[in-house]
Formats: sequence, structure tokens, C-alpha cells
Amino acid sequence: MAWNFETDPQFQQELDWIDEFVREEVEPLDFIIKTPYDLNDPVRNELIKPLQKLVQQRKLWACHLGPELGGPGYGQVKLALMNEILGRAKCASTIFGTQAPDTGNSEILAHFGTPEQKEKYLEPLLRNEIVSCYSMTEPQGGADPKVFRTRAELDGDEWVINGEKWFSSNARYASFLIAMVVTDPDGSPYHQQSMFLVPRDTPGLEIIRNIGLGTESEAEDRGSHGYVRYDNVRVPQKNLLGPCGGGFVVAQTRLGGGRIHHAMRTSGRVQRIFDMMCERALSRTTQGELLSQKQMVQEMIADS
Ligand SMILES: Cc1cc2nc3c(=O)[nH]c(=O)nc-3n(C[C@H](O)[C@H](O)[C@H](O)COP(=O)(O)OP(=O)(O)OC[C@H]3O[C@@H](n4cnc5c(N)ncnc54)[C@H](O)[C@@H]3O)c2cc1C
Repeated sequence: MAWNFETDPQFQQELDWIDEFVREEVEPLDFIIKTPYDLNDPVRNELIKPLQKLVQQRKLWACHLGPELGGPGYGQVKLALMNEILGRAKCASTIFGTQAPDTGNSEILAHFGTPEQKEKYLEPLLRNEIVSCYSMTEPQGGADPKVFRTRAELDGDEWVINGEKWFSSNARYASFLIAMVVTDPDGSPYHQQSMFLVPRDTPGLEIIRNIGLGTESEAEDRGSHGYVRYDNVRVPQKNLLGPCGGGFVVAQTRLGGGRIHHAMRTSGRVQRIFDMMCERALSRTTQGELLSQKQMVQEMIADS
């Protein structure tokens, strides 16, 4: 059975606008901006903020949100098609207000947050005045949250968190982390954990190092995936996000759409790399002819 991923003509017009905007205005920024998550970088702010305004005027800002949060409420197919284009450029998601992990974090704050949590964390996050981190994965348990060990225990009216998290992306730039932590080690695997809002400057919260992936060099301290230690980190009870023991359900709420958007951005990224390969083959001459004339190059492109 074949699936039809075509969209309605009106939304296709928006996709065409996004495609041209990303190619012309956003892709060049990837050569200049170190990371779109560093809100203290003046170059980043000078270049990104005007483009964010254009996207807002076009009503394409934070499209992952439902109408109750000011978003258009697009379904997953439209969001997937949009994210495929945004994947072409590193800065594109930030310019469209859909950068991970802030998207998923804003979704769970919207679903489960108290009015106070929404005011303090969600509203500035949606305006990209702050960035956030999602701190779930542990060194010994990545795809298997049933073996997480980071623990929170109630002491008076505060939760005390101890443990280590791995791959906490953007912890170094974040104003707050959402940590998934064991609150009931004896409970059933799906009710053992809870989510906590942890301000970045809470005493005891330490980034051991920033792991670099792909082109991020740890030697130049360009890594963005935090290896984080929680050493007697104290947060008030009101920092519990969602029900106590409800961490698994809260996590699924953010990961559901996020998985698809992430995959579509990767698909867009790969398409861009393929386009670059073809451009190179058509522009570089060696041994008296274009690369595109070489049989092996043709074969590599065909294989790709
Ligand atoms: C770029 C990047 C950013 C990330 N950002 C964050 C973040 O911000 N916050 C955060 O908490 N985590 C983050 N992660 C971590 C991510 O959630 C984990 O990498 C993921 O959960 C997989 O865990 P793992 O890498 O330990 O792989 P493992 O759990 O060791 O799995 C290794 C491989 O085993 C196979 N496998 C595992 N389970 C099964 C199964 N049930 N059935 C069949 N095969 C299986 C799969 O091929 C899998 O890829 C990030 C990861 C990356 C790569």
C-alpha cells in the first residue's frame, strides 16, 4: 500500500515559502553561527532575531503547538513536511520556534504544568528568551528507562536528587532542566519515575563535560550534550512536573511527535548533503572533465 504525503495547495504554498527562505536566508548562517542555542552570543542574536520576526509575521512560528497555545494545530503530516525542510539548516528550527528539546519540553509544560510553572518556564521558552534541557538518558540505560538509577527522595518539603545523566543536550545553555528521576524504586517499572523542573543554577548540579557529536569538537569545548551529575540537588515540591510516578507517561507525551520531527529533519539534512554532492560533481573538473563524467562518481551518486 502506498501512502500519499501530498498536502493541500494552501499549505504547499507555505512549504514553498519555507523552502526558499531556508535556502536563501538560513543556510548561510550555518557558516557563521556556532550554535543557535547560545543566547549570550551577540552575533547569533543579531542574525537570528530578525528572521524569527519574519517567521512570526508569516504565522509559521512554533507550529508544533495547538491552538490553545497560539499555534495553528497542524497535524503530524504537515509538521513532518515542514520539518523535512527545516532539517536542511542547523539554525532553521530555532528561527521557526521548533528547536529540540525546547519543543518537547514546551509540550509537556503545556500538558502537565501548573499555572505558576507555565508562567515561569513555558512562556519565556515559547518566546525563545530562554532555552531548556531534557535530562533523561543515563550512562547505563539509554533506550531502557527501566534501569535508570538517578533518585529523588523527599526531605521535608523538598526533593533531593542524586545521580548522573548522559546526553543532556544543551544543558550548558539551558536556564532549566527537566529531569526524569526514580521516586519509587519498588513501584512497577512504568510508575517508578517522576519529572522535575531543575533550574540550571541549583547548587549541586554539575556538568562533568560536554560531549561532542559529529562536527562538535570536545577539544575546542564545542560539545553540546551534557554529562550531568546531580549531587544532593534540592528542588521544592512544587517543581514536580505532572503526577508523582507519572514520569513515563509524561516522557511519552513529549517523545511521540518529537520522534517523527527528528527523523524528518534528518531526512532533510541528508537530502541537502546529497544535493551538495551533486553540485560538486557538476562544478569540479579534474583530468580534463567534470567529476559527473566519471563512472565511479556516477556510481556513488546512484548508490546514495
Ligand atoms: C544527538 C543526540 C541527542 C540526544 N539528546 C538527548 C537529550 O537531550 N536528553 C536525553 O535524555 N537523551 C538524549 N539522547 C540520548 C538518547 O535518548 C539515547 O541515545 C537513546 O535513548 C538510545 O540510548 P543509547 O544511545 O544508550 O543506546 P542503547 O540503549 O544502548 O541502544 C543501542 C542500540 O540497541 C538497539 N536496541 C535498543 N533497544 C532495543 C530494543 N528494545 N529492540 C531492538 N533493538 C534495540 C538499537 O539499535 C539501539 O540503537 C540523545 C542522543 C543523541 C544521539
